[in-house]
Amino acid sequence: MFLFIGVFHRERELAVVRFHCDHCHEEAAQHIVESGSRLWIFFLPLFTFSRRCVVVCEHCGWITEVSREFAKEAAARARA
Ligand SMILES: [Zn+2]
Repeated sequence: MFLFIGVFHRERELAVVRFHCDHCHEEAAQHIVESGSRLWIFFLPLFTFSRRCVVVCEHCGWITEVSREFAKEAAARARA
């Protein structure tokens, strides 16, 4: 019997918001990105683990890790 198991890294952009970057102090677009690893068995994704959320400054490329609550709240505000 064969068992196909794989773990793949995935990134998903939650939103793009504008605010002042802590690093370059410019007001620029900030990309809120969620990344994680997803376990696949055969061709079915089972669950995602090692999730983390980061904010990437479009102006300078600085990456800041943020909490999931902050990322989801900022994404909800960007959609409204
Ligand atoms: Zn910046």
